[in-house]
Amino acid sequence: MCGLDHHDDSLLEAMLENNLLFDSGVDGLYGRSGIFEDVIERFELLVRRLGAPDKATRIHFPPGMGRKTLEKSGYLKSFPHLAGGVHSFEGSDRDHAKLLGMLEAGEDWSDLQTPTDVFLTPAACYPLYPTVAQQGAVPDDGRLFELSSYCFRHEPSKDPARMQMFRMREFVRIGTPEQVCDFRESWLERGKTMIEGLGLPCHLDLASDPFFGRGGKMMAISQREQALKFELLIPVNSEETPTACLSFNYHQDHFGQTWGLQFEDGRTCHSACIGFGLERVALALFRHHGPDVEKWPAATRKLLWED
Ligand code: ATP
Ligand code: ZN
Ligand code: MG
Repeated sequence: MCGLDHHDDSLLEAMLENNLLFDSGVDGLYGRSGIFEDVIERFELLVRRLGAPDKATRIHFPPGMGRKTLEKSGYLKSFPHLAGGVHSFEGSDRDHAKLLGMLEAGEDWSDLQTPTDVFLTPAACYPLYPTVAQQGAVPDDGRLFELSSYCFRHEPSKDPARMQMFRMREFVRIGTPEQVCDFRESWLERGKTMIEGLGLPCHLDLASDPFFGRGGKMMAISQREQALKFELLIPVNSEETPTACLSFNYHQDHFGQTWGLQFEDGRTCHSACIGFGLERVALALFRHHGPDVEKWPAATRKLLWED
């Protein structure tokens, strides 16, 4: 292998040894080197260039969203195990003294924290739907958005491709079933061509989300049967279990119904989103092409730095 010298399960070590990622003491939270960030920046520009003809509207949301919005979106029904909320101290001077005493004694002080109205955004597109709904009826040719956000998922892991805080870039198409499925279809092709152009091995596959609990198994089966989710997989942390670096999701009218997204004539909109896992793509590039970007294949360098 000409890439980063590592054995399965130690990609993290290789990334840390090469000062591309920095340990924070918590699995799934890493500092990133300047070069790692440059690669992400250049990859985002490549995605933007490929998507430019579609003239998407760009919106950047902060990495936190309203608790009510997350509740209404249904996220807690499907993924309660991944969600994370922000807590803060709202106590008195006396409570503060108690807090300091507990810290001093090494005791658990979390009871002195109160949940706030903010949840960490689990996927870049969640804050979008209520925002679009506020803007009134959707035009007949639908709408297209381009988003980028830090996301949080409580899934600590030693696999550097499974972070707790990571960035997702998304295109979100809102429209008729045909409009949104055509858009997803076009990115299944564009996405694969782009990743192959970067010199990375990849394949598309049908996928399902990790819905919580017993009921979740049925939801995952139904999602597969209806081919609602595809992933572009690249070997990153392991050859046997490649990593989903791009996702292509068809939500049918789930968000349309939830948020009242409608055309002028009252028909409910459907939606689809294409998600790019930015850290995962960067990790795949380092894993396959090595730690030194100057030595990456000419075609990869050209696509990222020259075009
Ligand atoms: P996986 O099956 O690996 O858990 P996913 O199906 O949960 O991935 P999506 O919910 O479709 O992924 O998220 C969109 C994109 O965000 C994914 O294609 C992936 O590239 C990226 N992503 C998801 N979870 C993580 C994570 N924990 N760390 C880094 N990137 C992630
Ligand atoms: Zn999405
Ligand atoms: Mg997941």
